Amino acid sequence: MPSLRFIKLANVFEQLERTTSGNKMREILARFFKTVPKKEIDIIAYLLLGQIASKYEDINIGMAEKMVLRSIAIDSGRAEKEVSSTFKKLGDVGLTAEKLTTKSKPTLTVAQVFNTLHKIAAASGPGSQEFKIKTLAALLKKASPKEARYIARIILGTLRLGAGDMTLLDALAIAFTGTKANKPKLEHAYNICPDIGIIAKTIAIKGLKGIEKIGVTVGRPIQMMLAQRAKSVQMIKEKIPGVIACEEKYDGERVQAHFDGKRIILFSRRLENTTNQFPDVVEGLKKSIKAKSYVIEGEVVPIDEKGNLLPFQILMQRRRKYDVELYVKKIPVCLFLFDLLFLNGKSYIHKPYPERHKALQKIIKPTKRIKLANRKLCKEIDCIEDFFNWCISHGAEGIIAKSCAPDSTYKAGVRGWLWIKWKQEYQKLADTFDLVVVGAFYGKGKRAGTYGALLCAAYNHKLDRFETFCKLGSGFTDKQLAELPKKFAKYKIPHKPARLLVHKDMKPDVWFTPAVVVEVLGAEITRSPLHTCAVEKGQGLALRFPRFVRYRADKSPEQATTVKEILDMYKERK
Ligand code: ATP
Repeated sequence: MPSLRFIKLANVFEQLERTTSGNKMREILARFFKTVPKKEIDIIAYLLLGQIASKYEDINIGMAEKMVLRSIAIDSGRAEKEVSSTFKKLGDVGLTAEKLTTKSKPTLTVAQVFNTLHKIAAASGPGSQEFKIKTLAALLKKASPKEARYIARIILGTLRLGAGDMTLLDALAIAFTGTKANKPKLEHAYNICPDIGIIAKTIAIKGLKGIEKIGVTVGRPIQMMLAQRAKSVQMIKEKIPGVIACEEKYDGERVQAHFDGKRIILFSRRLENTTNQFPDVVEGLKKSIKAKSYVIEGEVVPIDEKGNLLPFQILMQRRRKYDVELYVKKIPVCLFLFDLLFLNGKSYIHKPYPERHKALQKIIKPTKRIKLANRKLCKEIDCIEDFFNWCISHGAEGIIAKSCAPDSTYKAGVRGWLWIKWKQEYQKLADTFDLVVVGAFYGKGKRAGTYGALLCAAYNHKLDRFETFCKLGSGFTDKQLAELPKKFAKYKIPHKPARLLVHKDMKPDVWFTPAVVVEVLGAEITRSPLHTCAVEKGQGLALRFPRFVRYRADKSPEQATTVKEILDMYKERK
């Protein structure tokens, strides 16, 4: 089968862009997947997400708005000034490319576009900017107006069709197994191999049997195992029978380190490649871990010169592309390791936690910068409490209690009762929620010119949709408030996000594609007719007196607090 004509994909982009319903979106995608050549379904899946590879691959096209406008000028033979003024009028580079491109008939194939975008991404060093501009101009020359619109948007990362990885999994299950009921099987494989392209190609060519065989590969991240919240220490003991491994809960950034025998790659909780951000951690691992290959996990935490733990906010300064070496010196970190998922060619995810931990202990030689997470094996509540108090006394957030039972395998991407978190803040009955910003209301009076409140939503994992939970207007510093419009400008969309469930009377002034996650402190969960979180008989759950705590740049929208977690908390407190 020859490569799909790009115009067919562009037509689907257009349909998706126009829909405001998540279910409709899934239908469109499922129908489309059935018609595409199976051998290139992987690249089609990436393009539907506005990507040219899996996110963890860290491939950047590296073209800014101005560069794309120059390509449009070359393609159309117009002066750059004219292109700029068309852009100013239309406000979107995609629409500018569409308006000014000269070709009318579509001739491009998906493979041609995909390969050219990779060629552009691969160019680096002196002269690469010119090369990128000219290569894109040549591609636009062959593109019809509609194709040009979407090529420009993919390049700039502004495609925003509203579909996420989970939406594509649903559509793939429908297209290739006939029912959405098989999505959990796809999701299980996706948790071990979070690469939508590989999942799409495997299900399309090898079916469910192929999906079941997907395993761990060094260099490809694994979705991280998560912890449930405990209401009390008693609850930990009820949920975890026998020996409980209590580990210190560090407030830093989760790191999954992969070593294939040659190279160390670090992944964040969002599965982004963070290797360049932490050259000190890479060096530390080289000295401290002796093995032929591995995948290990830990939490990276800022420390002072005496090795004391420092707050999470300080670590945020290490999120940078430039001046990395300077900040390595300025903000030293320590990696506290707590799990092992792969060792010397063998996957360990199906082995119980004690076995994984033993293997981890064997390969580590602790140093100032690479240590094992502090832990204590407990059977009784007193022991858990003592350890918790000790952790708090020197700056940790709390503990993570871990099961040592034979079934305590590594559950990729799952928030279950094998790991239970118990934090100091729970004792104060102050809970925080990680919510996705989906809209905003203009400010009035003192807040004129910025936003008065952000509309925040939780994630409904079962239905792959976002449900509103609160309007967030307090807790921001003056500076943070003033910066809101700029921070959110690139996420603005003209209508409600397709995967958002919203009450008809909830009408923010601006809508955002779900992208930014904020941590919010709340006083109480109540019922409200205006919110859609866990809605029942016309009443949703809502957070009273929400206060902004911090941005959670380490979380993706689908990693926000789930509707189920909120419902469980609401029921517990009633
Ligand atoms: P929170 O917002 O409470 O930090 P979270 O939503 O980021 O939690 P959870 O799964 O609820 O993630 O809590 C587990 C997180 O705690 C892990 O992702 C990891 O980053 C961190 N952590 C710190 N110390 C440990 C440890 N010893 N074992 C496991 N995770 C740990």
